Amino acid sequence: MQFAVIGNPISHSLSPILHNHAFKMLGIPGFYGRYLLQENQSFYHLRSLHLKGANITVPFKEVAFNSCDEIFGIAREIGAVNTIIFEKGRMLGYNTDALGFYLCIKDLAPKNALIIGAGGSAKAVAHILKQKEISVTLINRSKERLKDFKNFECFTFDTFTPKNPYDLIINTTPAGLINSDLPLAKEYLSPLLKKARLAFDLIYGRQTPFLTLAKSLNIATSDGKAMLINQAILAFEIFMESQNITFDTKILHQSMQHIL
Ligand code: NDP
Repeated sequence: MQFAVIGNPISHSLSPILHNHAFKMLGIPGFYGRYLLQENQSFYHLRSLHLKGANITVPFKEVAFNSCDEIFGIAREIGAVNTIIFEKGRMLGYNTDALGFYLCIKDLAPKNALIIGAGGSAKAVAHILKQKEISVTLINRSKERLKDFKNFECFTFDTFTPKNPYDLIINTTPAGLINSDLPLAKEYLSPLLKKARLAFDLIYGRQTPFLTLAKSLNIATSDGKAMLINQAILAFEIFMESQNITFDTKILHQSMQHIL
């Protein structure tokens, strides 16, 4: 029973560590690998790999959405798929990023949130927050991608104007991933962070300039590690359900939460 994470690049992905450890701890005979899909390669090529399921990462989540035969749950609204089941020659698509994120901030019970960035992960975050009746404001450095949020009940800005305080400020941009950039100019970001209750960065495994700034202002912070683990747990559950395999969910949670 084989699974894989599909992306480009893919060598950095921690998903194989999470899923293979869960298989081992649960005594389930499964293997989870990585697959580098070339950007010019057809997504349908994945059908020939004889996988039972896959996770999809950058830059294929929207391609996956458009390639699936059937889409389930919140993935339909988001327009992006990060989990696929291969069943009788069909590809079934799901999105576990959205709920994976929400489980990280649920206990904060925010009333409103500011999302910085307007890419695929911003869509997942914005949709789940709206579904939970949390007011969403979104800011992106360019106008183009804000179009995707046009029919969506949230406030959007491409130049800095939001002045209200936000309980939650989320960086969904890769700013700070491989450089020392902030996702928004410091003169705008600092006053917003000072009034926030939590600064959340989707980037994981790195103390980003965004999180460093929030910490210097004594604001609570969270990186994207818990979200990564949550989306993996939810995907694992979908994989096993498709194979009619029951297991101890407590062991699944314990195995994934302590391995990274
Ligand atoms: P996308 O490429 O789809 O979107 C990136 C967005 O960030 C765009 O709106 C882009 O603006 C903006 N942006 C890019 N660089 C900068 C910058 N230097 N300053 C300001 N804005 C910038 O990426 P994704 O949404 O798929 O992923 C974003 C990040 O989230 C990645 O680092 C990824 O690793 C992380 N992630 C983490 C997950 C987890 O489980 N923890 C899950 C999913 C993603 P523009 O439109 O102008 O180009």
